[in-house]
Amino acid sequence: MSLPKYSSLQQYQHNLAFHRKSSYTGPQYAMWSCVFCFTILCLCPMRTDCFLNTTKQKVLLVLVDGFRWDSFGLDLPSLRRFENDGVRADWLNSVFVSYLTPCAYSMTTGLYPESHGVIHYLYFNETTHTSTTRFEDVFNITEFFDTGVEPLWVTAKLAGKKVASVMWMGTAVPIKGIMSDRVIYHSYYRWSYKNYSMTARVKDAVSWLAEEDFDLALVYLDQPDWVLHENRIETERAQSAFWEVDETLNALLDEADRRGLWDTLNVIITSDHGHVNVDPKKYIILTDYIDEEDIDFSVMYGSVLFQLTPKGGAKDKVLRALQSAHPALYVYSKEEFPEHFHYANHPRNLPIIGYVEVGWHVHMHPFDPSKDSLHSQSDHGYDPFSMEMRAIFYARGPAFKNNYRARALEMVDIYPMVCDILNVEAAPNNGSRERYVSMMKETQDNNWNNTRLLLVTISLAAVVYFAINFCLPPKRVTTKSKKAD
Ligand SMILES: [Zn+2]
Repeated sequence: MSLPKYSSLQQYQHNLAFHRKSSYTGPQYAMWSCVFCFTILCLCPMRTDCFLNTTKQKVLLVLVDGFRWDSFGLDLPSLRRFENDGVRADWLNSVFVSYLTPCAYSMTTGLYPESHGVIHYLYFNETTHTSTTRFEDVFNITEFFDTGVEPLWVTAKLAGKKVASVMWMGTAVPIKGIMSDRVIYHSYYRWSYKNYSMTARVKDAVSWLAEEDFDLALVYLDQPDWVLHENRIETERAQSAFWEVDETLNALLDEADRRGLWDTLNVIITSDHGHVNVDPKKYIILTDYIDEEDIDFSVMYGSVLFQLTPKGGAKDKVLRALQSAHPALYVYSKEEFPEHFHYANHPRNLPIIGYVEVGWHVHMHPFDPSKDSLHSQSDHGYDPFSMEMRAIFYARGPAFKNNYRARALEMVDIYPMVCDILNVEAAPNNGSRERYVSMMKETQDNNWNNTRLLLVTISLAAVVYFAINFCLPPKRVTTKSKKAD
């Protein structure tokens, strides 16, 4: 064994003497070790978002249009599979107005309609007195969706993720100049639906996630909504639509099983709102109570919500007349609209906003109910907190617990949840991690956080103990001197 080469024996002896002089006692070593550990542990940033993960996870977000929280009383095997192997929330609260377009945008921005500005499925302008007339007219209008907010696919793209969108509201136009990497969108929506089956849509999305390294896929399923608008819930046609959804979700699960994707793939099944049978005899005609001459501009489509701009000076008159018109009719000035709906406080809304009780319809003019085929059977758009408007939430994947039943969520919670799973920074939103954290699986990060917390506590206790016992000056013991006898 060779000794260190020192310049001289003197130097060696000096260093050795210094080393010996600086040697600590056992307890002092322990104390300084604890101080060192404590400092290091404190310097490491502690992550409070406990289930954020460092392993790459993917998300397939599926929106089933009009699928009610109670599955319309059916026990669907696909949803049972999700519940057994994943999580189910009691229900998902929709947003006002519970139509697809505002709901889908709340889901993917984490914002209520008064913040994201997609307040209807019509795009209207009270200054020019213009409005789109059909549901699908807004799909390609950039300014309708590009309101300064940041939807999920844009957040993901900005974080370098690869995104695919299938018929999802708002993805057909650039938002902040950004679009998904792959966009399948409606040309004419009924045509698109019929020519691209729901099963094909989910299977394609799974294959892109598995084979082409996509991180996020958004898929819209049009059933059972449009069938329910034309057929009451108990009809054979409507029932077959529910089972078609089940078939689609089973195909999705089978495809993910077959490809062995459950280590990285999270599938979230949700809907925008529920559905309720409408009594064709329950309708309110606004011109029975107001003079149309007092109205400058109106928006009325969907038979549940309406907005009015009265002519100068007629606002109070119109408001008073409608507020006392009918017990199933709720009418407010924009400023007094119920705050908990998070709806009216956006410049796109008109000065008077009204809606009807669940199961009712409202029209501007007298009409023949037998000719109102579109919205005469089952409908939505009502108070989002009514039982009939509640939506579904099921999820399965490495981010979610198994066989777990969670409490109700809000639609705005989905955006931050998906951002957490993808490990991307969410834009400011109205969602709450408190509401969904219980359904998320703990990850290694969380275990590490817990371990680190324990180590910090032990180290701190040890530092205090050694400081008291070895560093403080010994207590002076005074003894009374005996008086000399
Ligand atoms: Zn609908």
